[in-house]
Amino acid sequence: MHLVGVQLLGRLGVVQRIAGRCVPANRGKHGQETQNKADANFLVHYDIKARTLTRLTGSSTAFSRTFKILSKQESGPTPGFILRPGRGIPLSCPVHAATPLSEMDWIPVPRRRQLERVGITTIDGLLTHFPKRYEDRTRFDHFPTGDSEEPVCVCGIVKKTSLRRIRGWQKMFDVILEEEEAHALSQPITCRWFNAHWVEKMIVTGQRLVVYGKPKRSGSSVVLAHPEFEIVENDAEVSLHLNRLTPIHRATEGLSPRVMRRLIWDVLEHMEKTPVESLIPDSLDATPRGWALRQVHFPDNQETLAKARRHLVLTEFFGMQLCVAAKRAEQTSQPGASHFVADTLMQRLHAALPFPLTGAQQRAIGEIRADLAALRPMNRLLHGDVGSGKTLVALSAMLLAVEAGYQAALMAPTQILAEQHYLNFLRLCEPLGLRVSLRTGARREDSSALPLFENAVQRVPGNDGIDPLPDSEPHILVGTHALLYEGAGFTRLGLAVIDEQHKFGVLQRARLRNQGVAPDVLVMTATPIPRTLTMTLYGDLDVSTLDELPAHRGKIVTGVRDAAKLPDAVKFLREHLEAGRQAYVVYPLIDESEKLEAKAAATEFAKWQEFLAPMPCALLHGRIAPEEKDAIMEKFRGGETKALIATTVIEVGIDVPNANIMLIENAERFGLAQLHQLRGRIGRGQHKSYCILLRSPKAEAETAEKLRILEATSDGFEIAEADLKLRGPGDILGTAQSGLPPLKLGDPLADHELMRLARNAAFLLFERDPQLERPENQRFRRVLAETRKLMLSQVS
Ligand code: ADP
Ligand code: MG
Repeated sequence: MHLVGVQLLGRLGVVQRIAGRCVPANRGKHGQETQNKADANFLVHYDIKARTLTRLTGSSTAFSRTFKILSKQESGPTPGFILRPGRGIPLSCPVHAATPLSEMDWIPVPRRRQLERVGITTIDGLLTHFPKRYEDRTRFDHFPTGDSEEPVCVCGIVKKTSLRRIRGWQKMFDVILEEEEAHALSQPITCRWFNAHWVEKMIVTGQRLVVYGKPKRSGSSVVLAHPEFEIVENDAEVSLHLNRLTPIHRATEGLSPRVMRRLIWDVLEHMEKTPVESLIPDSLDATPRGWALRQVHFPDNQETLAKARRHLVLTEFFGMQLCVAAKRAEQTSQPGASHFVADTLMQRLHAALPFPLTGAQQRAIGEIRADLAALRPMNRLLHGDVGSGKTLVALSAMLLAVEAGYQAALMAPTQILAEQHYLNFLRLCEPLGLRVSLRTGARREDSSALPLFENAVQRVPGNDGIDPLPDSEPHILVGTHALLYEGAGFTRLGLAVIDEQHKFGVLQRARLRNQGVAPDVLVMTATPIPRTLTMTLYGDLDVSTLDELPAHRGKIVTGVRDAAKLPDAVKFLREHLEAGRQAYVVYPLIDESEKLEAKAAATEFAKWQEFLAPMPCALLHGRIAPEEKDAIMEKFRGGETKALIATTVIEVGIDVPNANIMLIENAERFGLAQLHQLRGRIGRGQHKSYCILLRSPKAEAETAEKLRILEATSDGFEIAEADLKLRGPGDILGTAQSGLPPLKLGDPLADHELMRLARNAAFLLFERDPQLERPENQRFRRVLAETRKLMLSQVS
């Protein structure tokens, strides 16, 4: 054994730390320790293997950078060096969260490059690379004896490895693992990999392995296919990788969990003495951040882990909510105008309706009214189930703005919807003497100057101070979202309503603002949004909820059927069409190329025409020219066409009360919320409605589960929650769309209580110190800047 005598000379803590790492390599033999009190230096003598020394420092070049050689000792029992920790281990210099990894030159350059490639460039980035799970390596699972849906984590010794060729070209690598202290009952298990050269190179007989995976019985043995694994040696590393609640970090680019663990451990060691500033107010959670970071990576036990996680999730949410609160503070400080004086027009509209407003509608109108009257601009979200009557609430608000002497605009996501709103508004507003105008990319239309107009608007009391709108200007503008970009020439926009829009972002709102004095903005969504998300996605908006459907709604019966049942469904459809009803048939064509789409549409259409002959059918899809679409919709609305064969273009907003059947092919391909939205096209009249969801035989079991939710409930709020759970918040919070920072640890669903706490704290902070000027709030200013930077980098 080639031994080197090493004397470590340096400050107490530093030497102890390095010495601590040497001890196991020294096979338990402690060196002689002397402390030179005079200069507070600490001297330890070790005999260690040269190889170990190299491993401790990474490489021989790193060695010279890590230790400064003070003197070389040629004679004595073992030749050796007196070393002092050199600049390579900057233990004594403070490490900050923002310290770039490039300053930590004890991290080998190739490692740093790997980290950079996955976006980790600072200490903070590394420390917030949180474990994806933990293995309790103080207590391994027993070796499994059969199948299990739950993964197991076992530790054993490699008894044998074998490599076999199967089917000529595939390679199967088997590792037989035995429990270490084999008690009579435990059977060895097989870990199996296919075509995994890198695994073959790593695993050899005699190694101790920790594996994690789902066991499956195969013949007489239990097999773990492609398990996660880690080779653990009985050495210095044991304390780090074994006998603890071991963190498993997400592996990326050659950075195995083991490597990440080691790196993070080292960084935490270096930071031990550095105080880490908490990024949230103590009143929210007073756990020290430094402790939490250490515990989340290397927890003492489940309790400390939970406590640490709570702190860090709160920190993450708080950063996010700071952005929201800041946006909000900015908006409220903007000058707006009061867009509400009297409500005669609105009263007249309501009086002319054949039905009373629902309680929820009245409440929402009341909330909007208060906003319109206020001097700050309104930013409100109106959400509610399909068919809850959002349009009427919007129109009521628009009339308030018009009566106060302003213009109101409604922007819809599609041409068809814009047309529908236009016709609807025309019908309701002409009797009130208002000019309504349609502006879309394809069409412009103004209702003619109306004689009644004089009586309606200009004589309304309270308009003093505002000149009447010139005759050439419409009171109400309806268009697609493109209105925003074409500078539609609002001369006096008071209220902008955005319909069916999930993602009407800050940018668009800013654009609107530039068109005049900050108008009031009302955003309406197609389906309800779970509360958890209104707190985050729409955190900067006030929220009105329509949680009540108009009475006397036809009931919708939903049924999931196998595609093989199509003939029955067709028969059912025919019966209803013959009785005078109308139907939608939705076929799934998602993101096909233009050519394919046209072709598939034609085939589908031919098929359905044949099924339903001689009933007149029409085809509707995204590539049909706008004028043609109008004509098709008009015919359907008028009852001339009996069945509409369509893609999801009919998803939003279309309102034809006589249509009471919807058949959706390959329903499993759609999302829950989307299906619910589609289904909302029926059940709008007094007839009982039927929604048939056909499931293709290839559909997986879980999609069947998903479809069953629709069978069970028609409550949009419930469905939205279920959808969120199924798709996971990542998808919905998809950063590019939401403009929110990505979440690394928190789950807005499961942790929604923490989200609420963080939100309250952030809003309270801005209430007390709107500009974040107080010295104690400077750190939050930094957090805000950082989070915003993160958001921007996500968007681009
Ligand atoms: P959504 O909220 O899905 O946008 P709409 O605004 O399109 O719903 O309204 C759906 C239908 O309900 C429309 O035909 C509308 O005229 C009708 N409606 C709206 N409010 C009421 C009400 N209070 N009572 C009865 N029907 C109503
Ligand atoms: Mg609508």
